[in-house]
Amino acid sequence: MKHPFYLYLFFIVICSLNLQAQGLLTERNNFSRQDTLRGSITPERVWWNLTYYHLEVTVDPDKKYISGKNTIKYTVLNVYQTMQIDLQTPLRITKVTQDGTALEIIHEGNAHFIKLKKEQIVGNTESIVVHYKGNPKEAVRAPWDGGFSWKKDKNGNHFVATSCQGLGASVWWPCKDHMYDEVESMRISVTVPSHLMDVSNGRLESIEDHGATKTYNWFVDNPINNYGVNVNIGDYTHFSEVFDGEKGPLDMDYYVLKYNLEKAKKQFRDAPKMMKAFEHWFGPYPFYEDGYKLVEVPYLGMEHQSSVTYGNEFKQGYLGRDLSGTGWGLKFDFIIIHESGHEWFANNITDIDIADMWIHESFTNYSESLFLDYYYGKKAASEYVIGLRKTIANKIPIIGKYNVNKSGSSDMYNKGGNILHTLRQLIDNDKKWRQILRTMNAEFYHQTVTTKQIENFLSKETGFNLNPFFNQYLRTIKIPTLAYVLKNNTLKYRWTHVISNFKMPLKIIINGDEKWIYPTENWKEITLNSDEHSLIIDENFYVFTEKEN
Ligand SMILES: [Zn+2]
Repeated sequence: MKHPFYLYLFFIVICSLNLQAQGLLTERNNFSRQDTLRGSITPERVWWNLTYYHLEVTVDPDKKYISGKNTIKYTVLNVYQTMQIDLQTPLRITKVTQDGTALEIIHEGNAHFIKLKKEQIVGNTESIVVHYKGNPKEAVRAPWDGGFSWKKDKNGNHFVATSCQGLGASVWWPCKDHMYDEVESMRISVTVPSHLMDVSNGRLESIEDHGATKTYNWFVDNPINNYGVNVNIGDYTHFSEVFDGEKGPLDMDYYVLKYNLEKAKKQFRDAPKMMKAFEHWFGPYPFYEDGYKLVEVPYLGMEHQSSVTYGNEFKQGYLGRDLSGTGWGLKFDFIIIHESGHEWFANNITDIDIADMWIHESFTNYSESLFLDYYYGKKAASEYVIGLRKTIANKIPIIGKYNVNKSGSSDMYNKGGNILHTLRQLIDNDKKWRQILRTMNAEFYHQTVTTKQIENFLSKETGFNLNPFFNQYLRTIKIPTLAYVLKNNTLKYRWTHVISNFKMPLKIIINGDEKWIYPTENWKEITLNSDEHSLIIDENFYVFTEKEN
């Protein structure tokens, strides 16, 4: 007997509701094989080390279409005959060759397994050429939900840009799309309609004129992470200056739409100011060979290495707003300062897995405060970072899930900045704090790192065991809370909402005097020398308090 059709319909509805419910409940643990292929160091990735890319791509803005090839050079680390290359649909790999011979490709979603015919010998340098084409994913809400942004400027000219943080560079070009292996250098050749210009990373080597189109050849002479690579196509004009930096003269180049030139000349004065403050705090700009560029784009902005992209409408703050609510956020152009801070934290020191993306965002968030510190003093800087606390959600931990390309909570920004501000209080020595930030950029120069490496480095440099501190703040959503009783001549206090072994000292102001206390989970007490008490917890520490009777 057949079930009536409406029963099938009912069954389908129930099933899909059920799946949706499951999806919601298991959202953070429900990862597919595609997530693992994208987010882990697979056997088809681990055996070869990237050395060089030459990405050649022709962009046709009228058809929202791209085509080209990527020449991938690598060194053989282990004997293996299958190589994983990533390219996201709807783009298609049309051909892969090694030494001119076409190779078999086994496609599995966005991962493509290339069967190499040539014997791969340890230590040898080899290359493959991956040809591809198609209409790439269009950005939905760049840069957060990225891809290609196909926009027009006010004069009706095409204004095109890529952004792909998180999503991955394989959304627009074929590559080894995992953070752990950065290419050592890269050439980017972009062919565009001849009345437009392409600005990519590194330095402009040459322009080839083919009549209807032009090819812009850019060269990056430093390791670069995949999501840092970008094309920006528009009716650009250019101005520049030379910054007298810690490592010598640094070229700073600015590309903006022609009609925005005057606004940009005024607004981009923040760029050399940024460079001065950040070299002071973090050490030399990490990419002198490639220069520094600020490039106007049709979205808010992104930390593209040596070509920081800018869409903050030439306004102070974040699109004219102060995220801290203190007024200090309007003293600088948020996108110039924040995205350039990433040159040190994201592009110089890069996470191996985006689960550890706080390494990029927390330090860069704190760089905003350090910029203020340099020009407006410590009080302004503290007020700014403390002002950002109101946006902290504390719903999920800052560290994400490893090996599936999943970052953690967006608290990595403002909570992250406040964690570092708290760490600075513990160090209680700004010269040392600055030295640690500079040493960190030297020690992990052009490297990919894990949270553990950063924790261990900071423990070593500060002389504290910071593992409980980071376990508490990065891996739980609990905020240390000082429970206290102030009665008669006694102050009793202890930490609550903490993990075991959490022992963070705290600065308090009691009866007007600054004093360090050393709370643990057990009650401690100190005797005060007067009956009248005022107790203030130093607000620079990101902690909560709970007065008990
Ligand atoms: Zn950022």
